[in-house]
Amino acid sequence: MKKKKAFITGVSGQDGSYLAKLLLEKGYEVVGGERINTEKNYWRLKELKIERDIRIIPFELLDENNINKVIKSGKYSEFYNLAAQSFVNKSFLSPVYTTKINALSVVNILEAIKNFSRNTRFYQASSSEMFGKINTKMRNEKTNFIPVSPYAISKLYAHWMLDIYRDVHKLYCCSGILFNHDSPLRGEDFVTKKIVSDLIKIKLKKKSLLTLGNIYVRRDWGYSNDYVEAMWKMLQQKKADDYVISSGITHNVKTFVNKVAKNLEIDLIWKGEGLLERAIDKYTNKTIVRISKKFFRPNEIDHAFGSSSKAHKILKWKPKTDIDNLVRIMCEAELRKYKK
Ligand code: GDP
Repeated sequence: MKKKKAFITGVSGQDGSYLAKLLLEKGYEVVGGERINTEKNYWRLKELKIERDIRIIPFELLDENNINKVIKSGKYSEFYNLAAQSFVNKSFLSPVYTTKINALSVVNILEAIKNFSRNTRFYQASSSEMFGKINTKMRNEKTNFIPVSPYAISKLYAHWMLDIYRDVHKLYCCSGILFNHDSPLRGEDFVTKKIVSDLIKIKLKKKSLLTLGNIYVRRDWGYSNDYVEAMWKMLQQKKADDYVISSGITHNVKTFVNKVAKNLEIDLIWKGEGLLERAIDKYTNKTIVRISKKFFRPNEIDHAFGSSSKAHKILKWKPKTDIDNLVRIMCEAELRKYKK
């Protein structure tokens, strides 16, 4: 049988790397797209020991000619669009760039698939941020969207355009509405990785303070390595559809801090309130966690979780890793860096 061929945009990111590994294990030929003038950073692919197993070619999200060429010549069985400007906070500072990268580029890709490679199955990385300020805590595929950041609006544009290409142009395209998913391969700017990385540095006396924003925000956190499997499953169905992918359970940032501290055998004592709230290391009696206005968001989603019952039922997908195991996996991986 002919080898299946997959293209992944954002292949050097967290999800791109895990997905590439999964597809290689399933016998796919994997090609990754990378921006032309960007600093090459393949540490995640190296970490997973797959950097030599995939081919990386130039792929410019805003260059229609380049996109057409890649899709026309590649004739990919599956195309996973994971590249994005993925920082919610940054989207307030760069709304035009965020819109171009996250919204318009998707139309370029879908047009190219429609015109040159109609059998390519397309996966779009949508986001739970699209639900925004909707008045229900549980969110599923039928929930309305009230996006509250340029990031969320850009993702929603792509999500809805996908409907057009599926319904009107009859392409096979799926949108995965993923809730937060983290891992040792997460970038340092995301709160889970920041907490793990800083508390380990503090434990090893390489840093003295972890500074956070709003620690009462709740998130539905899962493990990226589990979630990429859902992406692949979406493209193996008879009928293309959209799916919410989540753990279904929320915790606040403070709980995440406490779980990481426990894993590292740091005893925390919390004192104070609001911006003066802080955590003291019981052993050294030093304040090691503080709150700063700097990390608060202009517009925050406080409490939301996803229901993946549709994915359970149709894709037979369930998350395998709960938050305690996610914390353990992240701490162990980070500690290994210092043992090398
Ligand atoms: P996001 O949900 O995709 O924006 O993922 P993040 O990991 O960046 O943020 C998760 C939540 O943690 C958000 O609600 C943030 O407001 C909150 N948070 C609190 N302190 C921090 C911090 O220092 N950095 C980040 N990135 N988020 C923080």
